[in-house]
Amino acid sequence: MNFGIDGKIALVTAASRGLGRGCAEQLAAEGCRVAICARDGVTVKQAAKEISKKTGTEVLGVGADMSKAEDINRLLINVRQSLGEPEILVTNAGGPPPGTYASTALEEYEKALNLTLMSAVHLIRGVTPAMQSNGWGRIIAITSISVKQPIGTLLLSNMARAGLTGFLKTIATELAPDGITVNALLPGTHKTSRIEQLAKFRAGQESKSPEDIIQEMMAANPSHTIGDASDFGAAAAFLASVQARYITGQNLLVDGGNYRGLL
Ligand code: NAD
Repeated sequence: MNFGIDGKIALVTAASRGLGRGCAEQLAAEGCRVAICARDGVTVKQAAKEISKKTGTEVLGVGADMSKAEDINRLLINVRQSLGEPEILVTNAGGPPPGTYASTALEEYEKALNLTLMSAVHLIRGVTPAMQSNGWGRIIAITSISVKQPIGTLLLSNMARAGLTGFLKTIATELAPDGITVNALLPGTHKTSRIEQLAKFRAGQESKSPEDIIQEMMAANPSHTIGDASDFGAAAAFLASVQARYITGQNLLVDGGNYRGLL
């Protein structure tokens, strides 16, 4: 299927590796002109070069930290000047540190809200005026299976992503008349460095090896596999497509069937 987004300008944040990169690669493969960011300017420029080489499309890499408002402003200005106004936005940031209620200090809460919730609010506010004038836009937020089923060792992530989900659902209604769709993509378990970090944390708590924890994650999943970044990116490319114009305000799980609830 041709997704009809050839030549569209797409911004994917936190995308030098992992799920963000998976989304950037799939959008570039669809012919989008893509901008990506990550904290380290050298790494992200290298990632942009690699995606460009793989897909034959123009990819811009910008060093920017999603926990800093000034970096988000600078990123948006850079993308506008280099490529134009983003027509597709995929919001992402590194996950907040793992922890439980007992292990989480009060000051960590605000940091997590800033990184996971406010970065998305800031980015979305930055791109919607042009999308509204053009009568077309696609906003996709990477959240987590934890918005359906909170994860015990990820208190901060559970909290901040629940807030983001409420924000997205509310603005989806408000922006629908402007031809803008707003959806969240919910990763389950995908083999990235984030999962390696979480496996290490759980391994420490349960006196097991990180490899044991990954094996347990696979065994617990109905597909007996772990996802990868391209499974995830393919779902993002579909939500960004012209065909997905009537899908908005949704939370789409990409989890191999791991979530057992009805809705
Ligand atoms: P990852 O660690 O593989 O990649 C994270 C990317 O974000 C990297 O490119 C990193 O450089 C960049 N990054 C980190 N902090 C940043 C910041 N402050 N500003 C800008 N860039 C930053 O992680 P991932 O697995 O791709 O996860 C992406 C998001 O999805 C995270 O929020 C994670 O918590 C969430 N998530 C992942 C999984 C999974 O299975 N991998 C499951 C549920 C939720």
